[in-house]
Amino acid sequence: MSDRPAFQPSTLVIHSNRVYESQSNSILFPIHQTATYIHESVGVTKGYGYSRGANPTVNALEQSIAAIEGSESALCFRSGMAAITTLCLAMLKAGDHVLLSEVIYGGTTRLFEQVLGNFAIDYTFVDTANLKAVEQAIRPETRLIFAETPANPTLRLSDVHGLAELAHTRPNIKLAVDNTFLTPLLQNCLSLGADISMLSTTKYIDGHNATIGGSLATHDVALTERLRLVRKTLGTIQAPFDAWLTIQGIKTLPARLAMHCAHAGQVAQWLERHPRVLRVNYPGLESFPQRELAKKQQSGFGGMLSFELKATTSESLHFMKALKLCTCAESLGSVETLITNPATASHCDLTVELRARLGISDQLIRLSVGLEAPQDLIADFEQAFEAIFGGAE
Ligand SMILES: *Cc1c(COP(=O)(O)O)cnc(C)c1O
Repeated sequence: MSDRPAFQPSTLVIHSNRVYESQSNSILFPIHQTATYIHESVGVTKGYGYSRGANPTVNALEQSIAAIEGSESALCFRSGMAAITTLCLAMLKAGDHVLLSEVIYGGTTRLFEQVLGNFAIDYTFVDTANLKAVEQAIRPETRLIFAETPANPTLRLSDVHGLAELAHTRPNIKLAVDNTFLTPLLQNCLSLGADISMLSTTKYIDGHNATIGGSLATHDVALTERLRLVRKTLGTIQAPFDAWLTIQGIKTLPARLAMHCAHAGQVAQWLERHPRVLRVNYPGLESFPQRELAKKQQSGFGGMLSFELKATTSESLHFMKALKLCTCAESLGSVETLITNPATASHCDLTVELRARLGISDQLIRLSVGLEAPQDLIADFEQAFEAIFGGAE
């Protein structure tokens, strides 16, 4: 659309990929479930040759993602991990060094430790919330800083603008941010100075636990073309049907995020006041140590929080089991409220010492606050507290 910049992102996610040439005038963009495309005459196509390279439905989703990233284009992948893998294989070569946030998605850790390490790509985990530590960890071979903020499950924040400034003091270092927890609508990493914004669209972008997917966006045109080539080579492009489902999801992203933030804020405040709760990690709380940074780089506090009970590990696990509405499951960012115990799930591979240093105790509970009525979620917590600890304090 030529008048694209005139519209707000919440309008664009609904209209950016409306097709006007559709044969039936269907209001939804169709699923182009096809492997290949007819050549009108030898070598003449409408821009699509084979669906490992590009697909119109995937492209339609890419337009919606680009609309919220504020980038010219975006690329969609079969999973968040396929996006990260493609990024690394496109940017790195043997001998290069990468700085990773020390609290980072488990799949990203596995990618470096179990796969890329075998190809002579070196990496260091660093506390990206500490800019001094990041500066000290930079080596002449460093090519990429890959940061995740807020960190999972402690919600510890890294200063994206500060990291970008640090990366750009060197000629060859790019900053990539895994922005899955907030999405560009609550934290626009590209405008904060990051070179690459990565999303697991599995989470808030789809929002309905229906698909697995990922995306990358950058203002760097040459890097976009390189990513397109590597994606086509690896075959990591999103599938048309999953892209189509994700297009439906992203249309309500602005509305859902507003509700996720409001509900998480209510639940966090209620939990913080409860006598059986030791502490709540949520950037929207006055007690959150990095609240000022959250207000500076985020336009909302998000739907993720974690908390610790004044209880033994066994009591905490029984508490989780006693919940009826909050569902115990991996993943986050969907309409359903999901609850996990990071020490035994997402962060079970970390050593006990590292978990202790990072503040991930065995009792810590992570909550992805969904769109159920907050009073129903609070009632669910109340009945679980009663079931485990009895009525009054
Ligand atoms: C889920 C997730 C990923 C990986 O995405 P998949 O779509 O599961 O491959 C990466 N980073 C974060 C922060 C995630 O939550």
